[in-house]
Amino acid sequence: MSASTRSIADLFAFDALIDDEERAIASTVADFGAKRLRPHVSQWFEDGTLPARDLARELGELGVFGMHLQGYGCAGTSAVSYGLACLELEAVDSGLRSFVSVQGSLAMFAIRAFGSDEQREEWLPRMAKGEAIGCFGLTEPDFGSNPAGMRTAAKRDGDDWILNGAKMWITNAPVADVAVVWAKTDLAEGARGVRGFVVPTDTPGFSAPEIKHKMSLRASITGEIVLEDVRLPASAMLPGVEGLRGPLSCLNEARFGIVFGAIGAARDCLQTAIDYAGTREVFDKPLAGYQITQTKVADMALEVGKGFLLAMHLGRQKDAGKIAPEQVSLGKLNNVREAIAIARECRTLLGANGITLEYPVIRHANNLESVLTYEGTSEMHQLMIGKALTGWDAFR
Ligand SMILES: Cc1cc2nc3c(=O)[nH]c(=O)nc-3n(C[C@H](O)[C@H](O)[C@H](O)COP(=O)(O)OP(=O)(O)OC[C@H]3O[C@@H](n4cnc5c(N)ncnc54)[C@H](O)[C@@H]3O)c2cc1C
Repeated sequence: MSASTRSIADLFAFDALIDDEERAIASTVADFGAKRLRPHVSQWFEDGTLPARDLARELGELGVFGMHLQGYGCAGTSAVSYGLACLELEAVDSGLRSFVSVQGSLAMFAIRAFGSDEQREEWLPRMAKGEAIGCFGLTEPDFGSNPAGMRTAAKRDGDDWILNGAKMWITNAPVADVAVVWAKTDLAEGARGVRGFVVPTDTPGFSAPEIKHKMSLRASITGEIVLEDVRLPASAMLPGVEGLRGPLSCLNEARFGIVFGAIGAARDCLQTAIDYAGTREVFDKPLAGYQITQTKVADMALEVGKGFLLAMHLGRQKDAGKIAPEQVSLGKLNNVREAIAIARECRTLLGANGITLEYPVIRHANNLESVLTYEGTSEMHQLMIGKALTGWDAFR
């Protein structure tokens, strides 16, 4: 047995990449995760629930909702700090990072970037504090990867708008106070007619039934949104954007959080597997002492390290205002793909224990199936990168 072991972060000297403020934020979120979330998360996952209302207030107090946005009660941190917060949350569970991503990067970002002053004043301070929960309705039952095909319609009636349609797989929808809903103002105009609407969820005609029986992201509440003659004032429309650029730029924000977050899930799996291998005896000595185990952990540590370096590079680019959507695709594609491979490999090291909720590994592996699919599937990111490299659009 070696005299000492090094953590993955120490081996890669991750600490040298971040400044004091970033370190303090990461450690505060990690501490909150360890004390408030980790003791309960496998039970929430098993029960398929999340105490969203209580957690929203606590996460609001922690300051993570919309933390990289400026003004309106948001902390205004760097993108890297936000990424590190996502990493520490997802090290606990992807569902918890999703809760924060949807609130801050999708719903709040849409209102901050494209909303009127009144919309910002009305919603952002309450959402930052966690007093109001937001959701983001883009995906429809028949249109996920291709949101341009959406059928949700917004029709004018005098000054008002009337919304009809259905959204599917919407994180937080059943518990949300406000939904940012994307709809077409003119079906004939196609994607050019897409506009965003800020919809209080108590508006008559709005309902959000919960989607049950998920085997992934169980510690996250997911729902449909059904819109039946939902009447909204003219002021409900987001004035600052037209077309798919609106929702796609919000998705780009949330994907950025996943670039970091996925590394948190991977790190947690790997550390769990290393700890387990140190105590589990097979053929009369600890599993950690076998070459096959060491090959596995070394290769996985390399991917965690490379993924973190990529996330940090993209974070610095984002803070410099220089990041392009296809660069975020590089990070999302790589880091989620590697994280899910790591979760599965770690599961092998835990043997049968790896399939129980006593350890976080199978929970992370199952969660990462959703992360692989939402915010653009892996295939969509391959197509975006392929288009950037070849100039050919292969989406159709
Ligand atoms: C737990 C969870 C939470 C979610 N939360 C939200 C949310 O808050 N808000 C929201 O709006 N959405 C949300 N989503 C929806 C998510 O963004 C979509 O599921 C995703 O965009 C994929 O759409 P789809 O499921 O309809 O798959 P499809 O688009 O039907 O894709 C099916 C398969 O076809 C592939 N494919 C599609 N087009 C092509 C092509 N041109 N070439 C090759 N392959 C292709 C895809 O990559 C995929 O493998 C959530 C999903 C999940 C699972």
